[in-house]
Amino acid sequence: MDPVIIIGTGMAAYTLAREFRKRDLETPVLLISEDDGRSYPKPMLSNALTKGKTAEQVAMFDAATMATKLNADIMTHTVVETIDPNAKTIRLGNGTSLVYDKLVLAVGANPIRIPIEGNASADILSVNNLADYTIFRDKLIDAQRVAIIGPGLIGCEFANDLLNVGTAVSIIGPSALPMDALLPEPIAEELKLTLASDGVDWHLETTTESINYADDGYELSLTNGDIVHADIVISAVGLRANIKLAESAGLNINRGIVTDQYLQTSQSDIYALGDCAEVSGHNLLFIAPIMAAAKALASTLSAEPKAVKYPAMPVAIKTPSYPLITAPPARNSKGEWHFEKAESGFGIKGLFVGADDALLGFVLSGDTVSEKSVLSKQLPDLLG
Ligand SMILES: Cc1cc2nc3c(=O)[nH]c(=O)nc-3n(C[C@H](O)[C@H](O)[C@H](O)COP(=O)(O)OP(=O)(O)OC[C@H]3O[C@@H](n4cnc5c(N)ncnc54)[C@H](O)[C@@H]3O)c2cc1C
Repeated sequence: MDPVIIIGTGMAAYTLAREFRKRDLETPVLLISEDDGRSYPKPMLSNALTKGKTAEQVAMFDAATMATKLNADIMTHTVVETIDPNAKTIRLGNGTSLVYDKLVLAVGANPIRIPIEGNASADILSVNNLADYTIFRDKLIDAQRVAIIGPGLIGCEFANDLLNVGTAVSIIGPSALPMDALLPEPIAEELKLTLASDGVDWHLETTTESINYADDGYELSLTNGDIVHADIVISAVGLRANIKLAESAGLNINRGIVTDQYLQTSQSDIYALGDCAEVSGHNLLFIAPIMAAAKALASTLSAEPKAVKYPAMPVAIKTPSYPLITAPPARNSKGEWHFEKAESGFGIKGLFVGADDALLGFVLSGDTVSEKSVLSKQLPDLLG
């Protein structure tokens, strides 16, 4: 029997394999990953310092243990280079070809890198997997100052984590406010003030022109003339779905690998889920959609086709200095934001209300995050 081959060993791949094994104990399953195959909760990368965890402590199981648990084969440190959808084969970096019955792409997303001048630009770190976190944590041992390029969700989470362990943080970015794509203005303003009072040195409405070695660490020159000194520089300007392999195989691509509600790509017997997938127009880079997609796809792969449904999926942002939960309205929603200050004075409730007073989205901060469950139930499904 030809196997189900899953490319990747991230949360999407492992969750799918686990769900599939609940339904099918017989069909061979092979997971192939270019990394070491350790299973770990990726969201913890941006609060592991506060929790005092090394990369080894963040990792839950190694590849061999996962293979036993899942009754699967796992090939690590192996890149899948090409897919031949007609022959139903994949080719690995070492030249080997493998035949699949069904193929699943769970290849994640890659950090976006913006070009920056200077003799130290190659030292800029991104922290998007365990190997990156190992390097980051090792460098932190001798570091007192970290500059973060990118005032978005991941940049603010790393900033809060670093502040919690006593590291000085500068954040640089072109927007006037942090997380401006996710937060309405009054809430983004409070986040900015709260993190500033905890020690963040904001450099907003500017960008990084160059990074050079200085006598003591790095010197960042900003377009507004500011100079920032740091021992570590992190780039956190966003992630982009990893579409390379799918594109070279001729699959339909948009912001991610295009799939229908059955997670099927434009080629039969090839599926995609997780950060790499754009499911019926939604390229969502967080955990809740992975859980829903893995369950539906496991059912489809075991001959019971099931369309994935996404309820509203609010996301908790790990900025404990200023707790945040966001459930942004769908793009192009028509409505207005209404704001209410928390009774305690700490935090704001932002409700995005459409026609007939329907709640279409919300952002909760500070003490208002306790209203998440009640409000979530009122939101429309994202994908019904
Ligand atoms: C710092 C950080 C904090 C986050 N916090 C949260 C949070 O609080 N809440 C939340 O919901 N989400 C959070 N997320 C997002 C969430 O972690 C991701 O959505 C999720 O982990 C993505 O899983 P994935 O399996 O799709 O991708 P990945 O974990 O990126 O896995 C991709 C896999 O594909 C493999 N691969 C890629 N290309 C190839 C190839 N050609 N051949 C072989 N193998 C290949 C890689 O080696 C890897 O194993 C966070 C993300 C980051 C980076």
